[in-house]
Amino acid sequence: MSELSNLIFHGAKHKITSPYGYRDVIETSGGNSAPFHNGVDYGTFNVKLPQYPIEDGIIVSRGIDWAYGGAKYVWIKYPRLGVKMLHYHLDSYRVKKGQAVNKNTIIGYTGKTGKATGIHLHLGLKLLSGGGYVDPEAWFEKNYTEPITEKDKTGTYKVTAKVLNVRSGPGTKYKAKKFRELSADAQKKILKLTGKKKNGYVKNMTFSVVEVCGNWGRTPSGWVSLNYCRKI
Ligand SMILES: [Zn+2]
Repeated sequence: MSELSNLIFHGAKHKITSPYGYRDVIETSGGNSAPFHNGVDYGTFNVKLPQYPIEDGIIVSRGIDWAYGGAKYVWIKYPRLGVKMLHYHLDSYRVKKGQAVNKNTIIGYTGKTGKATGIHLHLGLKLLSGGGYVDPEAWFEKNYTEPITEKDKTGTYKVTAKVLNVRSGPGTKYKAKKFRELSADAQKKILKLTGKKKNGYVKNMTFSVVEVCGNWGRTPSGWVSLNYCRKI
């Protein structure tokens, strides 16, 4: 089990049965295995466990690999992570090309279609920037960060821009507020930091964000773009 495979199997019992890299050739019902193992195998103790995407993604393709004994597979693209993953030897798949998926979508069930000696997932990984297979476990360990949810974005922020517009709604189409329309607390902070009545939050000023909408945060005085401040 690993952090990566626990995301795929939602914590159901499994184990790594063959890591990425060179290995002895294995004879299977579908023919001999390749000497270089270009993915990681996870055995599921003979159970056809459902498999899930590790986060929001898009199904790039699904199909049957007739060149390798009829293995059923699904490729999922993860735009945030910049990788795509191959789920191979599936007993069946439950998604189709172009479908948007999330961590609760069953993409298919673990099986032994194609060249396989038992029920397992063969997981392959490629970077969206190009190139061949890389070790999924090593990639995950080194590069994975959890997705940031909108709830994680609420909290205290500090302005990094010279002046940050405060708007009546989450977007530039909403009107920017004047100094007198800001909260009493904000007015006090602005005067203290600059000595002037500025129409917006000023550099190094702190404020709280109580709700997030895309890249916009709602503060006591109105909405600001979170691109021009940082969470502290
Ligand atoms: Zn494999």
